[in-house]
Formats: sequence, structure tokens, C-alpha cells
Amino acid sequence: GCNICVKKCPFEAISIVNVPDNFSKEIIHRYGTNGFELFGLPILKSGYVIGLLGKNGAGKTTILKILSGEIIPNFGEVEKQPSIDTVLQKFKGKELFSYFYDLYNKKLRVVHKIQYVEYASRLLKGEVSQLLRKVDERGKLDEIRELLFMNSIWNKEISTLSGGELQKTLIAAALAREANVYAIDEPSSYLDVRERINVAKGIRELTKGKYVVTVDHDLIVLDYIADFVSIIYGESGVYGKVSKTYSTRVGINNFLNGYLPAENMRVMDHKIQFYLKDVTDLDLAKNSAEKVRWSNITKTLGDFSLNTEQGFAREGEVIGIVGPNGIGKTTFIRILVGEIEPDSGSIVPTGLTLSYKPQRIVPDYEGTVREYLESVSKDILSTSSWFYTEVTRRLRLHKLLDSNVKDLSGGELQKLYVAGALAKEAHIYLLDEPSSYLDVEERYVVAKAIKRITRERKSVSFVVDHDLAIHDYIADRLIVFTGTPGKSGHASEPLSLSKGMNTFLKEIGLTFRRDAESGRPRANKIGSYLDRLQRERNEYYSTE
Ligand code: ADP
Ligand code: ADP
Ligand code: MG
Repeated sequence: GCNICVKKCPFEAISIVNVPDNFSKEIIHRYGTNGFELFGLPILKSGYVIGLLGKNGAGKTTILKILSGEIIPNFGEVEKQPSIDTVLQKFKGKELFSYFYDLYNKKLRVVHKIQYVEYASRLLKGEVSQLLRKVDERGKLDEIRELLFMNSIWNKEISTLSGGELQKTLIAAALAREANVYAIDEPSSYLDVRERINVAKGIRELTKGKYVVTVDHDLIVLDYIADFVSIIYGESGVYGKVSKTYSTRVGINNFLNGYLPAENMRVMDHKIQFYLKDVTDLDLAKNSAEKVRWSNITKTLGDFSLNTEQGFAREGEVIGIVGPNGIGKTTFIRILVGEIEPDSGSIVPTGLTLSYKPQRIVPDYEGTVREYLESVSKDILSTSSWFYTEVTRRLRLHKLLDSNVKDLSGGELQKLYVAGALAKEAHIYLLDEPSSYLDVEERYVVAKAIKRITRERKSVSFVVDHDLAIHDYIADRLIVFTGTPGKSGHASEPLSLSKGMNTFLKEIGLTFRRDAESGRPRANKIGSYLDRLQRERNEYYSTE
């Protein structure tokens, strides 16, 4: 933030960002004269997975490109790109020297799974299986196909794949190759919970003994996948600094605490706490009135049929929804608000209004962020309103007002559309995957904003998300969808958070424990002591 008046600065929108003085000798790379600066690099260890955790725009992808040899670091010299000999000279005597020596002398073969999988669909042609056969250098295609549930897409044309299908194809292609270094950028985007864990398992199992570095914003995935983590902190788009290497558990907990003890560095100005400790003022009143009630509902749409258990939601309640894609989550909510007529079943009261943030977000608005927000609601920009404090400013949208909506990054667009959906007064909110494209810090800020608005308006919010830690953080209750995507879906009644998580995890065959220190949920490795114990006790989601 601003170094002049540290906190609560009224001029925050024009804050000056100064890179701490003592960083300069560690500069690794700078993009252009006044461009983004990266300080430090993580140290890779052969045989271990190094996870990178940090905000968007802090240099994580840049780090992967440097470690892959795609960017030769310039150490801040933007005028003249240093030679490879100069670069090696700079690393002399440091742990990184032998890595870069081998990399530049072509002794290391690198595979890099890029962050934006969408790019690949434009470049790649042919069927999934054809592509994968071409890159199969290890004879492990069958194993990979099974692990990543790729049967149904095996003979599909790459140009027709959904985001999640494309993600799995690119990860499969990376793992099929024989390399010394595997750099995997944001593997969990677009995937459902089970796919995320399987991808994490696949990466661990198929890269044994190699150098592995990965970036992810889903804490459960990062925790499962990585042996060590480095935290990348700084100021988005301005500078990024790489922390020391921590064991995964300690590193994630430090990050959530917003403080790195080994370097005595504050990396966030607030903590992220689980068990809703920081939002207890928002506990749902036991006697809060009922907002909507539904009976058993059935609906057939083409080849797909949905049936639901009966249930109700209270004023101010946040209901998390979990389940795979194409299982009827959106259809259910559209039935609740009368947009779709059910084949059988009823909803009381009728005539409820909906505000909806869809799963896919496209920058199709012509105009600036300010114009977009004003078109939704004036209140959103009135600096004296509670909405401005709780949402606009918290999501840092006030800094983007003059940007064109078309030029926003994925994360910025997500925050804009969530704010737009919350700004509308409605009885029911449906937020479909609000966490995609957001970094960890933003996910919790958005989650908290959703909860506050829902409570304040006495509305009901249904939040669909594949990041389970987010549900743990905001959901009062949980609806679990099961069935076969595209064919049939079944919705449970709203269950308590622990019962819902238990049902869901049992369905997908995973057990979760709690981190003693931070309270965050952690996936048990399958077959581990705790995994076996919890299965025996039918306690798939430990609440201790
Ligand atoms: P992260 O992966 O942590 O989100 P990136 O490494 O992609 O961050 O980007 C860090 C910063 O560097 C961003 O502000 C981005 O705009 C900037 N940047 C990335 N690539 C380039 C480039 N080729 N030229 C100039 N700036 C860039
Ligand atoms: P989710 O929100 O869980 O991803 P949806 O409720 O959007 O799932 O869709 C569930 C299934 O119903 C999908 O297979 C979808 O293709 C299908 N579907 C949705 N609307 C229609 C429709 N109007 N006609 C035919 N099929 C539909
Ligand atoms: Mg990135």
C-alpha cells in the first residue's frame, strides 16, 4: 500500500507504491523501463514439488517462464539483454547456479503447462487422443486417461472442448512427456473437486524424482500437491518478491496469517481465518424467517432430468452448492425463481427475483468500469454508501473505474461481475463459480462481501464453487448434487455444513482433516493413517 500514511489513507486510489530499498540487489527481471520487477527466485529441489502461492500479477507465471528458459532474466537491465554467460555469472555461488547451468547447457528438458489453457484451443487441431499419442514418450497414456477421467473426451475434437476438458488435456500432455522439469501453471482452473484432487495426485505420481514447480490458488489443491511452498508477495503489476521456502503446511498458514516470520514481513494487511471467526457478527439468527420453501421437484430438459429433495432457506442465508458441472445446479435455481416451470413440485412464495452471476464471464460490455457500475446501480459508486465500503472498495474496483471492461484481466472481470450481481436488489442471488480467476486473498474478500450483502438484505445466496475451502468459509448450509453429468442430477435438501461436506466427500471418495493451527480443511492422502481412521468412523469431513 501507500507508504506515506500506511493505513486508512483517503487517497488510496492514487497511492504510490515503493519497492522496499533492500530488495534492489536481488532483482531478477524487469519488463521494460518502468515495468513490473521480480525479486528473487524459488529454489527447485529434485524430487520435490515446489508450490508458488501469491496474488495475481505478482510474477508467478514470470517465474515459471524463467525456470523453463523461456525468459532469460535481465537483472533489471532492460536496455541490453545480458548473455547467458553473464546470467550464469550472476548465479555463481548460489544454489540456483547448477540448475541454470544445466538448463542453458540443454541438460534439462522442460515441460511447461501454461496458465491460460484457452490459448491452446486455437493452436491445437485434431482429436484429444491423436494429440496425446504424439506426445506419449513414457507409455503412461492409459494410466493418465483413467486418472483424469478422460474417456468421454478421448475422441473429441480439441476445438470443441470445454475449459475443464482442455485443462485436463493439457495436463495429460505435460505428464505424458519425459522431462527433467515440470512447470505446471494453475492446474485446477475449470475443474471440479474430484478432478482437482486427481490432477494433484497425477502430478505427484508421474513426476517422481524430477524438478517440479506449480502455481495454484486452491489451497486444498496446493496443500495436496506441494512438498514446499514459496510465497510471492508484493504489489500486483508493480513488483513481486519470492519468499524463503517453507514446508507446505507452515507456508500456507503463514500466508493466511499475512505474516512471514523468517523474513519478518507482512504480506497481507488482514488475516484469513476459518470457522468464520472474523465474521461471527454475521452468524445467522436461529429465529430468522423463512424466505423460500420448495417441495420435491422434477424436471426433464432434453436428455437431462433433475429431481430434488424438499427444502427451505432462511432470510440472510448463504447456501453452498457442490457437485460436478452439468448436473442441474443452474436449472434448480432457475426453477426456484420461476424462470423454468417444473414438471412436478411447487415453490412458495412465487414471484421471487433473481440476480445471477453466470459461470462463464465474458468482457462483452462496451464502456468503462464506471459506466458499467453506474448502469447497474448508483449506490455502488456513492462513496458514502455501505455498499461502497463493503463491496466496491473491498474488491478494489474503485481503482479500475476508468479502465475499459474489455481490457480487464480475468480476476478483475470476475470481481466486477460479482459486484454487479450483488448491487441489484433481489430475493435470491446465484453466484456461479465466483472464485475462478481469483487469487486466494481475492477469493476470501469476495466470499465475505457475498455474506455481508446476503445478511444485510435478508436475501438468500446460492454459491456454486469447486473450491471447498471457500464453502467452509462462507456457507451456512450445503446442497449436494449427485448423479451423472448431462444425464441425471439429484439435489439433496440443504444439509448442515459438516453433514453436507461428509456426504459430498464420501460420494467422491476423499477424507478431509482440519489443520490444528489455522482450522483450514486439508485433504488426507488416500490410504494414510488418518484417511483410514476417518473412513472407518464415517467421518469424511473432520470438524475437530
Ligand atoms: P502472476 O502469474 O503472478 O499473475 P505474471 O508473472 O503473469 O503474474 O505477471 C506479473 C506482472 O508482469 C503483471 O503485472 C504483468 O502485467 C506483467 N507482465 C507479464 N508479462 C509481461 C510482458 N511480456 N511484458 C510486460 N509486462 C508483463
Ligand atoms: P450445472 O449448473 O450443474 O452445470 P445445468 O443446470 O446448467 O448444470 O445443466 C444441466 C444439464 O441440463 C446439462 O447437461 C445441460 O446441457 C442440460 N440442459 C440445460 N438446459 C437445457 C435445455 N433448455 N434443453 C436441454 N438440455 C438442457
Ligand atoms: Mg500467472
